[in-house]
Amino acid sequence: MQHAPTLPPARNLIGGGWRPAASGREMPMISPIDGRPFAAIADSGPEDVDAAIRAARAAFEGDWGRLTAAERGRLMLRLAQRIEAEAEALARLETRDNGKPIAQSRADMAALARYFEYYGGAADKLHGEVIPFLNGYDVMALREPHGVTGHIIPWNYPVQIFGRSVGAALAMGNATVTKPAEDACLTILRIGELAGEAGFPAGAINIVTGRGAVAGQALAEHPGVDFISFTGSPEVGQAIQIAAARNHIPCTLELGGKSPQIVFHDADLEAAAPVIVNAIVQNGGQTCSAGSRVLIQRGIWERLTAMLAERFGAVVAGPAEGALLGPLISARQKARVERYIAEAAAPLIARGTVARDAPSAGFYVAPALFGPVDPASPLAQEEIFGPVLAAIPFDTEAEAVAIANGTEYGLVAGIWTRDGDRQARMARAMRCGQVFINGYGAGGGIELPFGGVRKSGHGREKGFVALYEFSRLKTVVHRFA
Ligand code: NAD
Repeated sequence: MQHAPTLPPARNLIGGGWRPAASGREMPMISPIDGRPFAAIADSGPEDVDAAIRAARAAFEGDWGRLTAAERGRLMLRLAQRIEAEAEALARLETRDNGKPIAQSRADMAALARYFEYYGGAADKLHGEVIPFLNGYDVMALREPHGVTGHIIPWNYPVQIFGRSVGAALAMGNATVTKPAEDACLTILRIGELAGEAGFPAGAINIVTGRGAVAGQALAEHPGVDFISFTGSPEVGQAIQIAAARNHIPCTLELGGKSPQIVFHDADLEAAAPVIVNAIVQNGGQTCSAGSRVLIQRGIWERLTAMLAERFGAVVAGPAEGALLGPLISARQKARVERYIAEAAAPLIARGTVARDAPSAGFYVAPALFGPVDPASPLAQEEIFGPVLAAIPFDTEAEAVAIANGTEYGLVAGIWTRDGDRQARMARAMRCGQVFINGYGAGGGIELPFGGVRKSGHGREKGFVALYEFSRLKTVVHRFA
């Protein structure tokens, strides 16, 4: 059966209805595959964001807020089933919109459905507590939703990030307003349609598209929002945190990374090499938790870099269905990554190619492996957000720890060694939010708490712990005679 993507309308989802921007303005969506416009979205302003927040508040105080936790969970499971039923069409829409290879889009849809399944199942599982206190008192700690939650989403994994953030918020009973990224947001709009069909009350899920500096900023600064979940760049994350502070509300920030994979001389190199390549090529390297540095113990430098070079050289960036590497998201992102490659102050070890049939106006970049890279250089310190891997040699375990922790980021780390003591020492020494031992999962793991330290952000999403972020405690002290 042919699953042609149906383009959603250039409308916002506000209070259960689809409306154009109040100004009537639209903005074009450019296909990363060929650089051409193929759809349009609402170019929303503060008045549209305000309407969405009012609709969310009405839902929170009305039909949505009155549902029991079990009823919320059931709706979420129904949405998960609708997503699964439409997964192929949704994946094709995502590839059209975002450019990512169809296999990645399919994986994203499976993860999206799983987020709604996971958080739908969890909706009635998180209880408060009864706290022992003085005689004649019952003390309860009630877990309550924040109210209206704002969700600002980037373009690299639109539906996965929507699922993990909005899914957890809905499970706890919040009413949500999402501002997806202007570079890729069509699948999120389609999920909004599916949520209506699944029976979500009007206003529980609102979606407002538009520019970050206009619609995004209006959402972040609005006094009607009780909690902000932001995923994106550290620079914008800082502005979000300042806006949240002005309104005295909490926020989670999932920002960038410069995550290391550390390979010791006793590692299983045959197992490590394909994982290391995939962790930087997956999604065009446009993954916050991409393994963008590989630290290699000097004794295995020649052998492992040769293994990585062979694999890098074989990667072909192109539009083919089976391509491992698709186009980057935009002309701007392509120019940025190419600038890092052109200005690299390190030897090029290997470079992949761009397919001959790739449209010349598409945003394709051949992957590049550099090394030895100076750990203090931009290639080893800055998030490139493209298929560029920096290989860095080290001698001792202490040196590996210093290099691994020696950036402003701290999101994920991978440790490759057969030595159990070293595995345990290294896992504790890593200054980051997630550590993989003899494996690496860039972006994966619905059940696994995820988040960073310092410039990678704070707060944890994914897993059960996210439900604590998207709710708050109220202590009720009940004195009885
Ligand atoms: P970005 O910060 O430019 O945009 C992210 C979102 O914020 C978009 O929806 C955008 O419209 C909005 N935005 C932009 N300016 C805004 C403003 N002034 N006020 C409010 N909202 C605004 O980031 P990007 O370029 O879309 O995404 C790439 C970055 O996101 C990378 O740094 C990457 O590492 C990070 N990222 C992190 C994670 C994570 O989970 N840690 C996941 C994906 C992406």
